[in-house]
Amino acid sequence: MLQAARQAGILIPTLCDHQDLTPYAGCRFCVVEVSGSRFPLASCALPVSQGMVIKSESPAINRYRKAILRLMLSTYYDHDLLQRKNIPRKERGLLEDTEFMRWVKHYRINLRRYIPHEPRYPVNSDPNPFIRVDLNKCIVCTRCIRACAEIQGRFVWSLADRGIQTHITAGPNTTMLEARCESCGACAAYCPTGALEHKLSYGSPTPNKKVRTTCTYCGVGCQFDLNIREDEDGRQEIIRVTSSPDAPVNGMALCVKGRYGYDFVHHPDRLLKPRVRRYLLEGQPRTKDRGEWVEVDWDTALHITAVKLSSIRDRYGSDSVGIMTSAKCTNEENYLMNKFARQVIGTNSIDHCARL
Ligand code: SF4
Ligand code: SF4
Repeated sequence: MLQAARQAGILIPTLCDHQDLTPYAGCRFCVVEVSGSRFPLASCALPVSQGMVIKSESPAINRYRKAILRLMLSTYYDHDLLQRKNIPRKERGLLEDTEFMRWVKHYRINLRRYIPHEPRYPVNSDPNPFIRVDLNKCIVCTRCIRACAEIQGRFVWSLADRGIQTHITAGPNTTMLEARCESCGACAAYCPTGALEHKLSYGSPTPNKKVRTTCTYCGVGCQFDLNIREDEDGRQEIIRVTSSPDAPVNGMALCVKGRYGYDFVHHPDRLLKPRVRRYLLEGQPRTKDRGEWVEVDWDTALHITAVKLSSIRDRYGSDSVGIMTSAKCTNEENYLMNKFARQVIGTNSIDHCARL
């Protein structure tokens, strides 16, 4: 039913449902009125049949959804949220709302009336270096459990205990890494409440720009969004990486390198311009220590490289040169390196780092 509504452009609020995951019908937030049924039914798990009459909005359904949100809030503790009243009003807009909080606002629930003021679980309770776990914000929607099992195939999360004590747990109540977590971040990407969050960017300024890009780590070609904060002087900083649900190769999935390995972009040691040894630049013979590196423009670096490669090939033969390409290149770049090796240099000695 929910899928049919989406296809027809009708918005039915959801929390435990995600279109990538098996329907769970746990939160009951997607309830609809069905003619002939005495009770509202969860649309995510409701098969469509001929002649059904459905109401996705009604005063009764709205009351039902509000009651669900109030119940969830009665066990939801967010320390940062409680501190929010101490933040100047003009800076509150910098705080990002989670999917859950957007629905709370949408249904105009008086948050402070319902949320507890004491945590039930330790905040930041898992030593995983990339995922921040705060079970006080968990609404037990099980999206993380399904994402880890169905997308990543690691089965790290499961449910423990019963009733109001029900909570997610990694493995047999151990740490995420001990439960075979690969730190892919999928569970955090699917979590609608921030109970599982990206640790590296937690508490960082809110990004004000997104740039879709292709990961540089391997040849799969996963896409994601760089969430960037640009200040008034035009300085840009990557705050975090988020999944691009419509990425053709990977959808919401990413590995630990793509999702969390972005600090190299701003690293002070990163080379941003080509460098050559000074003796090459000045056309001098090579010294024992080979001298210092000098920053040059691309034309100069490519010219020196071409002259050196030509002279080695002419003097020692084509097979004196070997080419090593990279899985970080695109298919097209690797194709060009193949052409360069065989047709420009004249050697078949070309290989690829993925075989090492
Ligand atoms: S980070 Fe990935 S592997 Fe680890 S628990 Fe989350 S989804 Fe599973
Ligand atoms: S941690 Fe997040 S995704 Fe997992 S059950 Fe809790 S609210 Fe849902």
